[in-house]
Amino acid sequence: MSSPVSAPVDAAAPDSVLKPDFATKRRHFIFEDHHDQLRESIRTFAQRELAPHAEEWEQTTFLDWVFKRMGELGFLGLSYPEQYGGQGGDYYSNLVLAEEIVHANSGGLAMGIAVHTDMATPPIHLFGTEEQKQNYLVPAIKGEKISCLGITEPDAGSDVSGIKTRAVRDGDEYVINGSKTYITNGTRADFIVLVTKTDPDAGYDGFTLFLVDTDTPGYIVENKLEKLGMHASDTALLAFSDMRVPASAVLGQVGKGFYHIMWELQGERLIGAAGCVAGAQKVFEKTLAFAQERTAFGRPISKFQVTRHKFAEMATKIESARQMVYTTAWRHHNGEYPVREISMAKLHASRIAVEVADECIQIHGGAGYMREYGVERVWRDMRLNRIGAGTDEVMLDVIGRSYGL
Ligand SMILES: Cc1cc2nc3c(=O)[nH]c(=O)nc-3n(C[C@H](O)[C@H](O)[C@H](O)COP(=O)(O)OP(=O)(O)OC[C@H]3O[C@@H](n4cnc5c(N)ncnc54)[C@H](O)[C@@H]3O)c2cc1C
Repeated sequence: MSSPVSAPVDAAAPDSVLKPDFATKRRHFIFEDHHDQLRESIRTFAQRELAPHAEEWEQTTFLDWVFKRMGELGFLGLSYPEQYGGQGGDYYSNLVLAEEIVHANSGGLAMGIAVHTDMATPPIHLFGTEEQKQNYLVPAIKGEKISCLGITEPDAGSDVSGIKTRAVRDGDEYVINGSKTYITNGTRADFIVLVTKTDPDAGYDGFTLFLVDTDTPGYIVENKLEKLGMHASDTALLAFSDMRVPASAVLGQVGKGFYHIMWELQGERLIGAAGCVAGAQKVFEKTLAFAQERTAFGRPISKFQVTRHKFAEMATKIESARQMVYTTAWRHHNGEYPVREISMAKLHASRIAVEVADECIQIHGGAGYMREYGVERVWRDMRLNRIGAGTDEVMLDVIGRSYGL
């Protein structure tokens, strides 16, 4: 591991006095020089090529060329092996993407990309056959095929075991009937990683994942859903009516889909937590600049003690969440399966991101309520994180149960 960016103070030197080094920029020990370079290139790309469209994409949703462009730049396969067109990087590269994409100023775009890179494609990489990797993972990394992930149904969200979408074997095929809702990228995707029940009597051993092309007869996009925030992403209600797929469309093991998707959710939650920390940091910095400019009662509002303390509270929350994310990522990177800590990081980061965005609206005063300043959008976008990928209550339940309760 390379050395930190700044050298430690030599307290023993006769002319040195220990002073707080608030302005020093230090890299966390999980990152190395190549992560910094990646960080720089993703940030530059997001600021130059994405952020200028952020407002327009709130109306139209972000355009499909973003996938193609990010594929060309290698950003859609950072930790996938080079043999599939990936960059062969480590898990921390995915964290860097989740952190730097916030500079696109578009929560919806960040979510649509994260669904593709960290939710729908990881199960193909881990569980897929070589043929499936060639047909789906390779074009997904190039940005030529867009993916989505179908778990949630109108009657089953938190309780994944309650899904009703059925896949019934018929010769060399399966016939799938059912529906999925709130599916990100659902109106634009070329394929879906679909969670179904193949044996309703087998409990957790009765689930199977499928890889399905969205142009398969019987695949229906029922509706594009309107929502509170994340307007730059598309969210769909899908239906499957006698949709026939070959047996080769099974992803992973027949009957083990529940375990496969629980594994997938861990990566999804950790990446979501990283995005929350980065989003909170960005709105914090924006608000800091605002508070130093804005005056009331003859002084910048940042000079009121109450405002100073608000920033201190927010900074402490952000830092605590960041440390949880990095430490948990380090464990994940080193081969552990830290479900409890991932749940804690997801819960804490989602909560503090919403709290920070809310406080930033408050510090902005009326401006915080105006769309022009973009702070209210951060709050609306961030609010999803306490619901999506497992609600706060579900995270608390996972954590509580991990103690045998
Ligand atoms: C914008 C958006 C994008 C999404 N994208 C996707 C996607 O791409 N793919 C996908 O599959 N899903 C997606 N989702 C779905 C998301 O993961 C679910 O909304 C979430 O898991 C909650 O499920 P639910 O909405 O059915 O709520 P419910 O499960 O009905 O929960 C309702 C309330 O009951 C509480 N509750 C439920 N069970 C318990 C319990 N055991 N103990 C205590 N409280 C409980 C919940 O915490 C919640 O407060 C998305 C959702 C949104 C809003």
